Amino acid sequence: MTIPEIDTPETGITPGGTSGAFRDVLSKDHARRGKPPLHFVDMTPAQRIEKAAELGLPKFRVKQLANHYFGHFDVNAAEFTDFPAAKRDEAAAAFFPQLITEVTRQVADESTTIKTLWKKLFDGSLIESVLMRYPTRATLCISSQVGCGMGCPFCATGKLGLTRNMSTGEIVEQVRVAAKMMRDGEVAGGEGRLSNIVFMGMGEPMGNYNSVLSAVRQISAMPPEGFGISARNITVSTVGVVPGIKKLTAEGIPVRLAVSLHAPSDELRDELVPMNKRFNTTQVLDAAHDYWLASKRRVSIEYALMRGINDQAEHAQLLAKRLNHYGDDWAHVNPIPLNPIEGSKWTASKPEDEKQFLEILHRASITATLRDTRGQDIDGACGQLAAKER
Ligand code: SAH
Ligand code: SF4
Repeated sequence: MTIPEIDTPETGITPGGTSGAFRDVLSKDHARRGKPPLHFVDMTPAQRIEKAAELGLPKFRVKQLANHYFGHFDVNAAEFTDFPAAKRDEAAAAFFPQLITEVTRQVADESTTIKTLWKKLFDGSLIESVLMRYPTRATLCISSQVGCGMGCPFCATGKLGLTRNMSTGEIVEQVRVAAKMMRDGEVAGGEGRLSNIVFMGMGEPMGNYNSVLSAVRQISAMPPEGFGISARNITVSTVGVVPGIKKLTAEGIPVRLAVSLHAPSDELRDELVPMNKRFNTTQVLDAAHDYWLASKRRVSIEYALMRGINDQAEHAQLLAKRLNHYGDDWAHVNPIPLNPIEGSKWTASKPEDEKQFLEILHRASITATLRDTRGQDIDGACGQLAAKER
């Protein structure tokens, strides 16, 4: 299996051995496709003021727009009643170009899980996000890239390959729309509030670091600078791109870090996660543990249980040993039965093996809870997002 490369322009990370060909294809692709239109959330404060000036609007109008967007989830000119009527349409078009359009919406779990298939306006790319409502919280699983270049063979997004990075605007728009749906009572259970964000949709967040970070900052800042969803309720999940984990550590933002480990040894992980050939389990766990030391936020270790592959007693024992090697109670293991994708040779573990896996971890004093598989019947569960028009 070849080692995938990740999109490099923003991070400078070149995980793959064979540098040239794939990146050339990528950059040509980028050039052909161009970039999404600049949106309010893509602009620096200075750029916003400059843009307003171009429209003949004073500085304080920018704050009003921020209030509409972050405080009220509004992008429609008709709602800008505090704005001069003659300038509403122009301002809406200049600051809030429509970046994503809904293609389809599927519901499951008695309408408390909603998967939205979005079509990007400007180049027709497709991405998905999934909103899951629980009794005490509502979690949105968002995408950060169109497809993914990491090549994990059990993952539907991985099968697509990487088309391009998403802009900050495209990432944040998924959040705005879901927050609006919750506020307006469009999700079964009545009016509510979007409380949690997980970067576990399509794409590898560390492969699109700058846009993801800018999105995290704006999702977590208090209105009118952001939506006010606490950084502690935002999870950034990575396949184990170590320089990205280190960069995130240095940011000092209290997001939750999730690391998709899936195997306790390099021998096995090399097979399941191609990126392991670039950053091995020791490097990934060291970086994850450093994140815990710096943030005091327990790191989630994601582990998709695959029947007969990584779900036996020996795997649980080795995983416990590797985590306990660091001494403190720093990790939270999230085993999830594999959501098998079409044509995959791997399938979900037997319930008794899942149970045994958890018991072994618990006996070794490791915190571990089985992750739910919400949305599975609409291909809206982890690893199943692979936007296609249906
Ligand atoms: N690229 C990032 C985030 C997106 S994937 C990452 O890999 O962490 C989100 C999670 O879904 C990861 O933990 C990933 O390993 C897991 N996943 C992928 N395919 C899956 C599948 N078929 N069944 C269960 N989990 C899967
Ligand atoms: Fe990409 Fe994550 Fe899927 Fe691997 S599991 S292919 S890193 S989205």
